[in-house]
Amino acid sequence: MTQKASKNRKSAKGLKSSSPCYGCASECCQYFAVYIDEPTDLDEYDAVKWYIYHRKVSVYIDKEEDWYVHIEVPCRELDRHGKCRSYEGRPMVCRNYKPTACERADIDVKNIAEFDSVQELDDFFKLNYRVIGTDLKRRRRKYRTA
Ligand code: SF4
Ligand code: SF4
Repeated sequence: MTQKASKNRKSAKGLKSSSPCYGCASECCQYFAVYIDEPTDLDEYDAVKWYIYHRKVSVYIDKEEDWYVHIEVPCRELDRHGKCRSYEGRPMVCRNYKPTACERADIDVKNIAEFDSVQELDDFFKLNYRVIGTDLKRRRRKYRTA
């Protein structure tokens, strides 16, 4: 629940216009993102490439420099009106998600980098890492982007 707004702005049925979710096509239920460790050697880098080779999968580094794999698949519990079929029993990650701080509300959130292709990942790595044996070392404390 972080990035990539849907182009479909149809509102979930039944929401009041005063709701912070009004006009949103339940964007936070259209994907999930999982934290991953920053790659520190060539094997881990290879695993990140493997994620990105899959359709509907990307990897990004958020503004806190945390790495995530992003899978663009809607939740099975989302109905065609944009409502949760399991609202009463929804998981804690959904309950704790605040519409006042979601990706739609927090429009200033900018990720440091997003990798939709292996080429983008390779370019970023050349700029920011050097290879020592099989290990990866950051060239500088802060990431650079092209
Ligand atoms: S369980 Fe419900 S609230 Fe949670 S992601 Fe799925 S549809 Fe959305
Ligand atoms: S929490 Fe944010 S992304 Fe999720 S439905 Fe509400 S406004 Fe949309």
